[in-house]
Amino acid sequence: MKLSQKPEAHAHSCLLYGAAKTGKTLLAGKLAEAYNLVYIDLENGYESLLQLPTEWQKRIELISLPDTSSYPIAIETILKMVKGKVSICEAHGKVTCMICRREEAAMIELDLPSLGPDTVVVFDSMTQLSASAIAHITKGEPDDYKLTFNDYGNLGRLLDIFLSHLQAANYNVVVISHEQAIEQEDKRTIITPVGGTRNFSKNIAKFFGSVVYCTRKNRKHMFYSSTDFATNILTGSRTGIAIENAAEEASLLQIFKPELYPTPDAPAPLSIGTKKKGGNTTANSVLAKLAK
Ligand SMILES: [Zn+2]
Repeated sequence: MKLSQKPEAHAHSCLLYGAAKTGKTLLAGKLAEAYNLVYIDLENGYESLLQLPTEWQKRIELISLPDTSSYPIAIETILKMVKGKVSICEAHGKVTCMICRREEAAMIELDLPSLGPDTVVVFDSMTQLSASAIAHITKGEPDDYKLTFNDYGNLGRLLDIFLSHLQAANYNVVVISHEQAIEQEDKRTIITPVGGTRNFSKNIAKFFGSVVYCTRKNRKHMFYSSTDFATNILTGSRTGIAIENAAEEASLLQIFKPELYPTPDAPAPLSIGTKKKGGNTTANSVLAKLAK
């Protein structure tokens, strides 16, 4: 097969990271304009999704997992979730919960491996999932317990299982994380997503098609995805998309549905409906194209 004939991969995967209150949840949630979303919330941060139009909210299935250091359920439930069909209770976020089964409480049925490219699964966040994995590994240890070499190995193994399943998935994936500064051997500081050990975090990008950095500038949310945005901040996109160059509001649809965003060099697709000045990226024309 000629490379030019090879169909583009259907599923996209994106790692979205930055400090608190930089608009990560809402940016991911806006994908509901064009996709069904399964939003797995470990941060109790779904409130900002309520800003979305009601029509978009109807396409979001919210699954809240009540994860804490004394009840680290998220790592257990999520690893089961990415591997196969599960039934999760609302009260404990537990797969096949015996207590809730006895009480005949309502369960959420979820079959991630059966989902296709019309769905985006959002995991919010990798930070809490790492914390959950650590709490799970050190269960029963005293508060001042220091992680051993073995514990770090187990942490890497659990996160590797999670990320490898996402890599092989037929559905689209957004993983949200926070940022951390890591001092390198040459004393240079780099900004990377949080995920497992510092070494693991530095290599986390290889599991994703794109890595988007979120920050605030002059009270505005800013998003960056081009590989050469900054030498000390991890960003990049395999398809070379720079969402910071958007003529209008940045959107993950630029990465997930690049065909909706004609580049100046490429001929613009035939537009149906009314033409808007400044490109065809307004919400109406996006929806019009999706309806084709
Ligand atoms: Zn339960």
